[in-house]
Amino acid sequence: MKIAVVGTGYVGLVTGTCFAETGNYVTCIDIDHRKVEKLSNGQITIYEPGLEKIFLRNLKEGRLDFTTDLASGIKDAAIIFLALPTPPGEDGSADLKYVLGVARDLGKILTDYVVVVDKSTVPVGTAEKVHAAISENYNGPFDVVSNPEFLREGVAVDDFMKPDRVVVGTRSERARKSMTELYAPFVRSGNPVIFMDERSAELTKYAANSFLATKISFMNEVAQLCERLGADVDMVRRGIGSDDRIGKRFLFPGIGYGGSCFPKDVQALVKSSGEVGYEFKILEAVMDVNERQKLHLIPKVSQYFGGELAGKHFALWGLAFKPNTDDIREAPALYMIDALLEAGATVSAFDPEAMANVKALYGDRVKFAENQYDALESADALLIATEWNEFRTPDFMRIVKSLKNKAIFDGRNLFDVDAVKELGFHYESIGRAPSK
Ligand code: NAD
Repeated sequence: MKIAVVGTGYVGLVTGTCFAETGNYVTCIDIDHRKVEKLSNGQITIYEPGLEKIFLRNLKEGRLDFTTDLASGIKDAAIIFLALPTPPGEDGSADLKYVLGVARDLGKILTDYVVVVDKSTVPVGTAEKVHAAISENYNGPFDVVSNPEFLREGVAVDDFMKPDRVVVGTRSERARKSMTELYAPFVRSGNPVIFMDERSAELTKYAANSFLATKISFMNEVAQLCERLGADVDMVRRGIGSDDRIGKRFLFPGIGYGGSCFPKDVQALVKSSGEVGYEFKILEAVMDVNERQKLHLIPKVSQYFGGELAGKHFALWGLAFKPNTDDIREAPALYMIDALLEAGATVSAFDPEAMANVKALYGDRVKFAENQYDALESADALLIATEWNEFRTPDFMRIVKSLKNKAIFDGRNLFDVDAVKELGFHYESIGRAPSK
């Protein structure tokens, strides 16, 4: 099948590459000339484990190409995916200007029947808006389908190639047939393609992300309580997670959720609810809890230094919003950096993949280290914001040698409290007793 993917970011590039991997001819379209040039030359533009190998293979075998030109990119495509940004607008609702802008442009160039698929996360009713935007200039046949994406950055290729489920919102038999054919290779082990109407599909994506964000914020509140009541959140987590109804996953407390999805999607669902006269109270609380949690470590650090952060220098391990990605959108680490700089402290940071993105934002207001140990040089304490695997079993002796104080503030609960205590560290984490 010939496929076009409009928007070649984290979702578009993975989508395009994975569809090419199953034998389709895929053209990815992006307005960013530099991105398209790099990709056309075989240079991958995001860090995503496993992606580069299949990207290069499909590029070489001529099943994947890139262009900035929408008209030539969609030529002969049976399905056009829109994987465009839907950032929060000023009022918190999803800004549809990219999606509807491209839909209008499509209306000017379509000539034959095509399936246009909303892959972006979009509010309920967007499929109808996309339909209307295309129809402004095109009166031939087409269908608009909602096919929200559930991949997770860091494991995106696996998630895309072996999805738990594929959600397809369409009431058109013709579109259903195309989508069934396209996704057949991805669901051979029996995971379902769930067909539903467009509105239900659109809401499914927001409900899924909002539920997961709720689970995280719930656990962060339990952790807050543990700190005040002298309970250990690791034990509580294990205790409740072994109940099948609750499940083990997404119960790890930390310094809040970030990324380009949870924060904006929870906010957008609250906004959509408000627009139809419903106050989604749980999600309002989820957002409040997350805001508070992002800076949870800062007062602990401040207290350790007698309330004075000015002039202190901190090592920060982890910048990406989660491990195995270079994505720093809404990363808790950035909130910590802002708070520390504002208090007059300085920061030396290390992240295996995300430093270039942070440097583009902060320039030389933050120092970037060659490796995790260089970041510790002359630092007053170590702060941890992302649970990269390589931070889990560090050389504690090197940490002791480099840090001015044996103090670690861990926003991701990487270490065993007793083990670190034995090494003589002042160690504070989330929802567990500090070792002093
Ligand atoms: P992104 O910012 O990484 O990529 C979007 C791309 O669209 C960029 O390369 C940008 O240059 C391009 N673009 C913007 N306007 C364009 C235009 N007019 N024509 C062509 N290209 C254009 O965004 P993303 O993270 O891939 O997210 C895309 C959508 O998918 C969002 O709605 C997001 O909520 C959703 N989503 C994201 C994830 C994730 O993990 N990142 C997961 C599921 C769903």
